[in-house]
Amino acid sequence: MEKENNNLMEKIVSLCKRRGFIFPGSEIYGGLAGTYDWGHFGVALKNNIKQYWWKKFVDSRRDMYGIDAAILMRQEVWQASGHVAGFADPMIECEKCKEKYRTDQIVDKNKCEKCGGKLIEEKMFNMMFQTKVGASDDSSAISYLRPETAQGMFVNFKNTVDAFHPKLPFGMAQIGKAFRNEITPRDFIFRVREFEQMEIEYFTREEDWEKYFEYWKGEMLSWMEEVGIDMNKVHELEVLAEDRAHYSKRTVDFEFDYPFGKKELFGLAYRTDFDLANHKLDYIDEEKSEKITPHVIEPTFGVDRAVLAILLSSYFEDPEGKQEASNGAGEKEGRVYLKFKPSIAPVICAVSPLLKNKPELVEYANTKVFASLKAEFGRVMWDDNGNIGKRYRRQDEIGTPFCIVVDFDTLTDDTVTVRDRDTGEQERIKVSDLKNYIKEKIN
Ligand code: ATP
Repeated sequence: MEKENNNLMEKIVSLCKRRGFIFPGSEIYGGLAGTYDWGHFGVALKNNIKQYWWKKFVDSRRDMYGIDAAILMRQEVWQASGHVAGFADPMIECEKCKEKYRTDQIVDKNKCEKCGGKLIEEKMFNMMFQTKVGASDDSSAISYLRPETAQGMFVNFKNTVDAFHPKLPFGMAQIGKAFRNEITPRDFIFRVREFEQMEIEYFTREEDWEKYFEYWKGEMLSWMEEVGIDMNKVHELEVLAEDRAHYSKRTVDFEFDYPFGKKELFGLAYRTDFDLANHKLDYIDEEKSEKITPHVIEPTFGVDRAVLAILLSSYFEDPEGKQEASNGAGEKEGRVYLKFKPSIAPVICAVSPLLKNKPELVEYANTKVFASLKAEFGRVMWDDNGNIGKRYRRQDEIGTPFCIVVDFDTLTDDTVTVRDRDTGEQERIKVSDLKNYIKEKIN
């Protein structure tokens, strides 16, 4: 079973590289641990996931305010938030080879996994990347790459209230990069040093926190299902007090069954009034004529872990393959496909002329099919490389829900073959109906 799971990760990492989703960072210089570069299809998938999140949690609501705060902030922000003093993991080092480990992540706390040497000197390691802003070298120039997007929202709480006069409860939402100098980055994009978060800070009166905690739990679960995360692999974990972050009075982690174990996917925390109080920010409730410090519920989603969970939930192998004889595409070998939801698939459909050396087919496919679908959906790919069977294989691995083929019949009856990724089945659809056909499938 363990071997199978390792194989699955290997297969996904290799597919992501081969098909242009995700590459190791700084690869031509030997790689930089904990960093990845996103290729064309990876960017598209990630953008679709982020857009879907923004649409659900910001655009379709009346009580949410977006923000895109600077990554660099004054050091006072991180002092007030408690990160300078407390955003640290326990670290242990090998006496012999100097390999470092996060103490809570290794099984044998005495023996080095790499060389068998003795592990010594447990100390706390602050995970924030420190930098200096400007040319000055004194300590007042110290800044940090943000380890969470949350503080960008808290420090703009007053700006948001002054600009929009929202009534409680209301939320702020942000999508952006976060950086953590993880001691042991591992498991592909699961634990990296540079990643993205989609976070909400939902401000409410203290007495309502439990109600909104439950509400956001439901919202998070429904989003996961909507983007195609396998809900049979998602589990809720009530985080014990001693394991909670310094600011939290209640945390529920949503864990996912990754091939390397059951680990955190997203989190939901009750941050109390910890952050607003430490930044000395308050809120005037005009209806009740009182000044209060709102309490905060924080649903947080890691984009990279979302991508990994979606890839793992979408990966299918069909050992028999599908016999797709029409159009000359006899597919008999096994196939691998990514069963992305059409709403988040990097490519919604690929358009092919049956033969690329037949100008009449190429002309028709290009001008009458590809151009109009591209203008409508954007996420449309021209694919005339190799025979039809090879194109289907490629599109399956990219997770393209529909492959559209223009053949000789098209020239006389204005219909095309639309081949379904999941079933391998093919239908003839009128060219004039294509847009509506795809729109219906996306929705
Ligand atoms: P872990 O216990 O796995 O280190 P955490 O509890 O420190 O995670 P949070 O501080 O709750 O994580 O961060 C919010 C979200 O950001 C996580 O649920 C996860 O999706 C994502 N995240 C956190 N650290 C990383 C990382 N190093 N790489 C990728 N995503 C991360």
